[in-house]
Amino acid sequence: MTQTQPKTWDVAVVGAGMAGMAASLFAAERGLSCLQIGNGGGLLFASGLLDLLAVHPVAGRRLWDNPFEALAMLRRDQPDHPLARVDDATMRAAFQSFTTALGAAGMPYAPPGDRNANVLTSLGTAKPTYGVPRTMSAGVGALAGRPPCLLLDFRGLREFSARQIVATIGDRWPGLRMARVEFPGAETTAELYAAHMAVALESGDFRERTIARVRPLLGDAHAVGFPAVLGLARSGAVHAAFEEALGVPVFEIPTMPTSVPGLRLNSALEQAVVTRGVHRMLRANVTSAAFDGTAVLTLDGVPGGETVSARTVVLATGRFTGRGLTAGQQRVTESLLGLPVQQPASRAAWHSRDFLDPAGHAVNRAGLATDDEFRPLESDGRPAWPGLFAVGSILAGQDWMREKCGAGLALGTARLAVDRIARQLGVPGPLAEAG
Ligand SMILES: Cc1cc2nc3c(=O)[nH]c(=O)nc-3n(C[C@H](O)[C@H](O)[C@H](O)COP(=O)(O)OP(=O)(O)OC[C@H]3O[C@@H](n4cnc5c(N)ncnc54)[C@H](O)[C@@H]3O)c2cc1C
Repeated sequence: MTQTQPKTWDVAVVGAGMAGMAASLFAAERGLSCLQIGNGGGLLFASGLLDLLAVHPVAGRRLWDNPFEALAMLRRDQPDHPLARVDDATMRAAFQSFTTALGAAGMPYAPPGDRNANVLTSLGTAKPTYGVPRTMSAGVGALAGRPPCLLLDFRGLREFSARQIVATIGDRWPGLRMARVEFPGAETTAELYAAHMAVALESGDFRERTIARVRPLLGDAHAVGFPAVLGLARSGAVHAAFEEALGVPVFEIPTMPTSVPGLRLNSALEQAVVTRGVHRMLRANVTSAAFDGTAVLTLDGVPGGETVSARTVVLATGRFTGRGLTAGQQRVTESLLGLPVQQPASRAAWHSRDFLDPAGHAVNRAGLATDDEFRPLESDGRPAWPGLFAVGSILAGQDWMREKCGAGLALGTARLAVDRIARQLGVPGPLAEAG
């Protein structure tokens, strides 16, 4: 560690998925010294779409156009849901800061408003979401208005089939057609990889050759949809170049994981937190923690081993795939600190008999119970440590995949926890002043 780094950090964030990134970003924006530990989580698989809340209740599969109305209903129906603890102003501020930071890091989003947008997926279905990358936003209007439209795919790119999309939705979108083109330079290649194509399209030569193959196919198309391969670090510029050259709105359609927008999101967030002064220990894992006046975290993956100390800790270690929760023979446990996990009474109750039960499976709602500030609770109902907070998908009482609230959960809980941390540490800000 260099001498400019504090001996005791204001905040140590454990985890680098969507929730850990959001917490680090918000902490740095509040002027808190922040150490982030851990490598990329589910972000690499993310679609780039930022869901706030689209489905409630899950059993009825009720879809909402206005995510804030959905939140109001959720607060009434499930007051223990983590999102029910996040007020609208905090949620709006979280999305505003997050998308502004992503825009500055080269991944611009359409300004977040009051509505969910429907985005065309690679399955030909419509996915309701809240935050839409600019490279995908023309597709929202195309899906809503259904003018004549051309969808393109590339021979050899397995994770995306324009033919499949047209087969699924074509009967409700008469002017929708597809074409398959050869990716320049890959005419004899059997298999294409989205990330390689995205990098190649950042070169003017590849771009112009691709555009030259697409232009004769335009016909009466009012818009053109591509798989999400239009650039990696410079997607804004690549997308703009395609629109200018083709003379019609161009939109990306998210592909199956590992997705290029997930890679973009990960690297834009890395850039956003680092430029705001967050110190990242990418290759480290937290192996244990001791709490007294400050928290002392023990790390591995660091040459020689190391401990770090922090006034507050944000646990953003995710669920089973993130490693925050561990499923044992009988019980779900919290992997790092052994915190109590709210869960079904027995393993037999983890899953519904019906795999496709619209209400989901109880184990997907297992996680940490917290107070209203997102401090995990011990079994006696008291916070485990006054400066320990938990955010994102490790929290109990939510099923982010079914509720379509992954980013809302990560951003909203991270924002609220960081606001409380700032207040606890006496840092001036909206909540500190109000308090
Ligand atoms: C396939 C897929 C599709 C998605 N699509 C969408 C979408 O369409 N819309 C949307 O809004 N969101 C989407 N998401 C993202 C989703 O919102 C988030 O991944 C989810 O909310 C979980 O985020 P998280 O940060 O809580 O956990 P994770 O992403 O699981 O991150 C946990 C992190 O903690 C780290 N960690 C765990 N233990 C330790 C330790 N001891 N020390 C250090 N680090 C540790 C892990 O390495 C990881 O970095 C998608 C995710 C996936 C996987």
